[in-house]
Amino acid sequence: MKDEFSLIRSITPEKAYHKELIQGIGDDSAIYTPIQNEHQIVCMDTMVEGVHFTEQTMSPFQIGWKALAVNLSDIAAMGGTPDYYLVSIAFPSVWYDRINEIYRGLSDLAKRFNIDLIGGDTVSSDKLTITVTAIGHTFKRKYFLRSQAWPGDVILVTGTLGDSAAGLRILLGELRGNDDEMERTLIKNHQLPFPLIEAGQIMAQMPYHTSLNDISDGLASEANEIAEASGVKLIIDYSSLPKSDELLQLDPKLQKEYSLFGGEDYQLLITAPESAVLEYQQAFKKVGIRLTRIGYVEEGSPSVYLVDGQDKALLSKKGFNHFTD
Ligand code: ADP
Ligand code: MG
Repeated sequence: MKDEFSLIRSITPEKAYHKELIQGIGDDSAIYTPIQNEHQIVCMDTMVEGVHFTEQTMSPFQIGWKALAVNLSDIAAMGGTPDYYLVSIAFPSVWYDRINEIYRGLSDLAKRFNIDLIGGDTVSSDKLTITVTAIGHTFKRKYFLRSQAWPGDVILVTGTLGDSAAGLRILLGELRGNDDEMERTLIKNHQLPFPLIEAGQIMAQMPYHTSLNDISDGLASEANEIAEASGVKLIIDYSSLPKSDELLQLDPKLQKEYSLFGGEDYQLLITAPESAVLEYQQAFKKVGIRLTRIGYVEEGSPSVYLVDGQDKALLSKKGFNHFTD
């Protein structure tokens, strides 16, 4: 039966992970009891067919997975732990039979972090649009803002950069990898990003001032956001950027474009004092997360500089501005 009510019934979870949840799906609102001594974190992200994905670039399962993943990445970037999520889905009737598959993608990721689906909204529209709201927590004063980069800090980044952008170009037929295996790896990074909740939690248990931003719009853009919020200058060394073996097989010009401006890698960009680096690296290693030092923070007007060999250029959100002093 193609109606909203049978759809909602079919996606209603059978059990809840959180005992604080009083009412999930099924009433006018969800209701839960917040835990004492915690801060609540709330964020929202929308994905629109034709803008963020097409039938060519993402399966329904992947659309669901990624819609939640990008929100969990925002919670990770605060050092938080996700607890609940809500889903607003707007779609034309041709999508009806694939909605359950989207929810399978959502719940597959959600169960890895014990997150409860507690509500949402269902409406019709001419394009599939999915909005996820995620709710999480941190312990008192254990959260990370973009404004905490101090002169003398080190800049770090998790994982590798640029794979998602390369994967998208391959999906769109604009780029070819050397072989199927290479193409599959890059594409997977675009379709099924894994949010770095664990990395944020690790840092939240340590005592160092730290600023964090998740890399949704590209390293250049996120670095500029930290520089602006903190009122500092960031110096990034291009040769130290971590790249996957697959990305390293591409033309160097494309490697540069994708790793700096590509976006959608959902890695974490971190600044922290020198004294934190070894501890962070050792703790990350235990959970299989790569952490690479890529630069340092200086006093100065809010800006980001990219050093590449002898070349030093101002790195704006979208490109380079060479200068001659
Ligand atoms: P109301 O008319 O009171 O807004 P709805 O019929 O829209 O209620 O929703 C009924 C219940 O189903 C609510 O708990 C709502 O949060 C939930 N719900 C509706 N659509 C979705 C959805 N797409 N995903 C998850 N929960 C949903
Ligand atoms: Mg409603």
